[in-house]
Amino acid sequence: MKLTFAPHTLYFKRPFKIAHGTRSSTPIVLTRLEHDGIVGYGEASMPPYLSETHETVLSFLNKAAMVLTKYYHPFDIESILKGIDNLAPDNNAAKASVDIALHDLIGKLLNKPCWQIFNCDKNKTPYTTYTLGIDEPEVIKQKVAEGEDYKIIKVKLNGENDKLIIETIRKVTDKPIAVDVNQGWTNKHRALEMIEWLTDKNVLFVEQPLPKNNFDDGAWLFERSPLPLFADESIQRFSDINKVKNCFHGINIKLMKCTGMHEAYKMINEARALNLQVLIGCMSETSCAVSAAAQLSPLVDYADLDGPLLIKNNFFDGVEFVNGKITLSELPGIGAVQNF
Ligand code: MG
Repeated sequence: MKLTFAPHTLYFKRPFKIAHGTRSSTPIVLTRLEHDGIVGYGEASMPPYLSETHETVLSFLNKAAMVLTKYYHPFDIESILKGIDNLAPDNNAAKASVDIALHDLIGKLLNKPCWQIFNCDKNKTPYTTYTLGIDEPEVIKQKVAEGEDYKIIKVKLNGENDKLIIETIRKVTDKPIAVDVNQGWTNKHRALEMIEWLTDKNVLFVEQPLPKNNFDDGAWLFERSPLPLFADESIQRFSDINKVKNCFHGINIKLMKCTGMHEAYKMINEARALNLQVLIGCMSETSCAVSAAAQLSPLVDYADLDGPLLIKNNFFDGVEFVNGKITLSELPGIGAVQNF
């Protein structure tokens, strides 16, 4: 019995896109792996700022199919994923889709949820943050009200109207805030002033304050910042940890950046060994990839996994948030069930 990797199935033929609203959407590719009549699902999400597209993912998956067919069962995952990784230097989202599908498949074959396979305590899941975009004050207030059930607010800042945004939130709630600057502060002195201003505003941490490759200013800010700094765009894979460990207090691990659950797990352990905090995040993804990330969430400090809440066409039912807390089920594999 060989692994049947089926790039010809309807999943690839459908032009999947996740809709965020009337204007924007994110292309995704759903992957399906079959063994012994059991199916594992994976997902690649390709936001525009990463270099992957439908075409590059499908082309990579065609090559991955040839690696997969060399194996008689999916349990030799270390070796399979090494073979997939060696196919090309990048294509991280495409690699993640294979990794997620393999973990889903293995979990289903063992009839165990992945959190159990990774020896996680499902009661130790964190709360997910609830994301607010950059908006007018009235919209922000409305979105805070819509996210009433969630315990931590994530807000994006970009150097314009930052104080107004925080003050607007503080007028309506005292919930803790995670700030994500997305590289938006370009001057280290102004970044430090802003972080100092944020310190008495119940802010948990500041994510990616400076441009991703500016490690010199990052180290300067790291020495002075009164709030923890988390790397997002500055880190993708395990090998990047060394670059960021002296510029940040924590790292944001996303499956689409790091090639999947296998490497994410290794990164969490390495971060712990280096005394770095860990946030597990997501791109615009359905409950397929987000449920996979959630399986590892008992091992991290913070989670930013509200991706499925922000999309209009979720192709899977999966991880749930009960009063904002990530709630893992007993379903085998990644705990996601297709609904299309
Ligand atoms: Mg970020």
